[in-house]
Amino acid sequence: MLTCGCGRWMHTQGIEELEGRERTPSWFVRLECRGCGFVVGVDVPAEQDGGLVDRLMWTDEALHRLDRMPPYVAVLVRPDVEERARVQGRRVITYESLMQLATDQQIEWESEAERRLENVPPAVRAMAKVELERTAAERGLRLVTVALMEEVKAKYFGMGIREGKA
Ligand SMILES: [Zn+2]
Repeated sequence: MLTCGCGRWMHTQGIEELEGRERTPSWFVRLECRGCGFVVGVDVPAEQDGGLVDRLMWTDEALHRLDRMPPYVAVLVRPDVEERARVQGRRVITYESLMQLATDQQIEWESEAERRLENVPPAVRAMAKVELERTAAERGLRLVTVALMEEVKAKYFGMGIREGKA
């Protein structure tokens, strides 16, 4: 922890995830003094906050992602992510750890959707699979359907998914 010039402890205000200069990810930890209002930022290597994070915190990026989820999904995801962080003894919820939870859920594939995935060129298939499962999980869906595929295809993959004739 840091001590403010006025003598009080400084509390964590927020965390920003940075791509470091040598592509080493780092965190920009903002600390505030609740007494005099002084705010300071400290750049630390990611996952090594050295005690600067004084409670369970979401990074700005993770919060932003959570905000973009439909409210009914965010309500379900938030406690799950926080519980997992507690179990793992982590104080910081990063964008990555938020998305990881989404993809760890068991997502099933409609057989027609699965068949279409096989028609996706190998170069983008893995990415398409992750993106589809992630999108399904974010919406609280347990199944990747053709309808979802069509939607994601239009949004992320302008090309790539060939529609095989049945
Ligand atoms: Zn102060």
